[in-house]
Amino acid sequence: MKLVVIGAGVVGVTTAYALVRDGHEVTVVDRAAAPALGCSYANAGLVNGLTAAPWSAPGIPATVLKRFWRHDAAYRVRLRPDPAMAAWIVRFFGNCTASRTTEIKTQLRRLSGYSLGLLQELRAAHDLAYDQRTDGFIYLYRTAKSFETAHAAALGVDDPTVRPKALSGAALVEIEPALAAARVSFAGGLHYDRDETVDGRLFSQEMARADVENGVAFRFNTTATGVLVERNRVRGIRVAADGATDDLAAEAVVLAAGIESVDLAAPFGLRLPMVPVKGYSITLHMTDPSALPRHAMQDAHRKVTLTPLGNRLRIAGKADLAGRDRTIDRRRADTVLAALPDLLPGARWHGEPDYWSGLRPMTADSLPLLGPTPVDGLWLNTGHGSFGFTLACGSGRVVADMISGRAPAIDLTGLTLRT
Ligand SMILES: Cc1cc2nc3c(=O)[nH]c(=O)nc-3n(C[C@H](O)[C@H](O)[C@H](O)COP(=O)(O)OP(=O)(O)OC[C@H]3O[C@@H](n4cnc5c(N)ncnc54)[C@H](O)[C@@H]3O)c2cc1C
Repeated sequence: MKLVVIGAGVVGVTTAYALVRDGHEVTVVDRAAAPALGCSYANAGLVNGLTAAPWSAPGIPATVLKRFWRHDAAYRVRLRPDPAMAAWIVRFFGNCTASRTTEIKTQLRRLSGYSLGLLQELRAAHDLAYDQRTDGFIYLYRTAKSFETAHAAALGVDDPTVRPKALSGAALVEIEPALAAARVSFAGGLHYDRDETVDGRLFSQEMARADVENGVAFRFNTTATGVLVERNRVRGIRVAADGATDDLAAEAVVLAAGIESVDLAAPFGLRLPMVPVKGYSITLHMTDPSALPRHAMQDAHRKVTLTPLGNRLRIAGKADLAGRDRTIDRRRADTVLAALPDLLPGARWHGEPDYWSGLRPMTADSLPLLGPTPVDGLWLNTGHGSFGFTLACGSGRVVADMISGRAPAIDLTGLTLRT
């Protein structure tokens, strides 16, 4: 089948791979000049195969409402007359019950675990190199109470293989020596040793290389201005490039355009229930790479993640509900960087830090939108929120399975189109 994938972020390039391996003729279209110049460019880099959890959880509404207007709050909301955003907030708060959190977590982890396995297979098959690490991720807790609560919750999962190692005191420093100099003391940490880390841009570039090797065509600097549909059946897309418009014929189209998927679906009466949630990262080129932490770590108190990526250290966090504004608010980004001296006071870098912001395509339940729409031949692979890398390989595979007329290997309850 002749197919177009709109978007060359991590979701688009993994979808194209799965489709071409199924024998389809695939073209990926992106308005940018290269893969991963959108939200996939410089995120925190975690592949939370075992630890993915929805943002909505009991206690979150209180945390948000207490501080949402402050420039240093983890979650900031810029209130505006925007019905889609208001509806999203209502749904998000509605998902913050214990029962919904458990239900969503089960659905999320079904896909994240599947996706991690596929990522590992792909890495081996194509010798992908993307500054990855495979020795896990540590959540750090400042108080005994927060550590014990998180530990008890982690032990509550049914599958014993996904339980973390609980570490405190010398054991924590032994596994992560960089913490020996930390300015704040941590009551303990939970080490999930099967999670991985990824440089998002490098991974997407490597996947695009594997795509091309398998016959995928890429059209960069090309904007999809609309999906062409006749009698409720896709017949291609309209594109604009170099000041000219053109039609690309296709029997099926996959929307993998991040937050812009909302605009491409809208003409068909599809209101994709997702909003842009801005986050920040700062990447430092370390003077002494041997001082880098061995693991990615998150200080649960600040909700900021530190990730070693080759000779670089990335610090990422924040969630701003502020529409499509992509500008980097330096004051806000610096509150992310301010987490660094607490953990690694001796960190030194050369050159200017690389500041970045990206818009997470976020649903109110943190689950992506995968699969068919009521328009024949129009497919979704979008809404991955804060888990694009965690879920990309699995999402691409299941969407390709459905397009190819095969039953996906996992149950997709909760992961298909919701409006
Ligand atoms: C601060 C931060 C930290 C994060 N940390 C993590 C993490 O640790 N782990 C994790 O798994 N995820 C993380 N994420 C989330 C992850 O980055 C996203 O889920 C993921 O990048 C989404 O990928 P995507 O391919 O759907 O979208 P994008 O990467 O945005 O790709 C969409 C592409 O579509 C193109 N496009 C849009 N409209 C059109 C059009 N009309 N025509 C042609 N092309 C178009 C864009 O140019 C873009 O290249 C983080 C995000 C942020 C902001």
